[in-house]
Amino acid sequence: MIGLASLSSGSKGNCTVVRNGDDLILIDCGISFKKLKEKLKEHDLHEEMIKGIFVTHEHTDHVSGLRVTSDKMDIPVFCNQNTGAFLKRKERAPQNLNYFENGSSIGHSTFVVEPFSVPHDGVDTVAYNVFVNDIKISVATDFGFASQAVKQNLKGCDLLLLESNHDVKMLQECGKRPWKIKQRILSRHGHLSNETCHEILSDVLHKDLKHLILGHVSQDTNDYSLVKDLAQKHLELSGFEQLGMHVALQNEVSPFFTV
Ligand SMILES: [Zn+2]
Ligand SMILES: [Zn+2]
Repeated sequence: MIGLASLSSGSKGNCTVVRNGDDLILIDCGISFKKLKEKLKEHDLHEEMIKGIFVTHEHTDHVSGLRVTSDKMDIPVFCNQNTGAFLKRKERAPQNLNYFENGSSIGHSTFVVEPFSVPHDGVDTVAYNVFVNDIKISVATDFGFASQAVKQNLKGCDLLLLESNHDVKMLQECGKRPWKIKQRILSRHGHLSNETCHEILSDVLHKDLKHLILGHVSQDTNDYSLVKDLAQKHLELSGFEQLGMHVALQNEVSPFFTV
């Protein structure tokens, strides 16, 4: 079985599992080791199956459970030098830390993992393409605009987890967020709005895409049903209404999406 499930998605914690048979890799570990074990169990998976953890960037919602999980199970962690140096400075780095160059191709276990740079306010944020044989699984959250490079990197994927973070109007009107934070989220190094997410989809959707998962949805400045409705409309307008689409939630494990 080759596929992907979101274990947690949103500003309170992100963790995605990619599976090839009995081998798993995680993209980010922004949930506790205890929660991770519980969530894996929901899909009859076990922490001993995790062969590696690939980190997108150092923000807490992506690394809060990283060190404990990796150190307890001696799971190798992969990130770029800038992110690794930051984690070390903050004493959040695991023992088994391995560096890659953005844009390189890492063969690990039964996966080939390709990190690529995205525009975000981390020290050196990446998104990932994961290949199992000729199947391409893409996980791209935490970036501020639809750059050509990002669109290019996401082309031809079989499974896609893409950010649909906020509704611009809801963000502007949100009383809970100070102006400075709003500016940060809306900037080119912030997060993807629903509209920008659709802009990327216009370039990336293709007839062989099996599942689209929308993630890192804000609970204050977006709404799960709004994300779903808007994306469904966009899919219909683009002639992809048959595509399986799902919104990844903060507190619930998603189904396993397989190729
Ligand atoms: Zn994040
Ligand atoms: Zn971030």
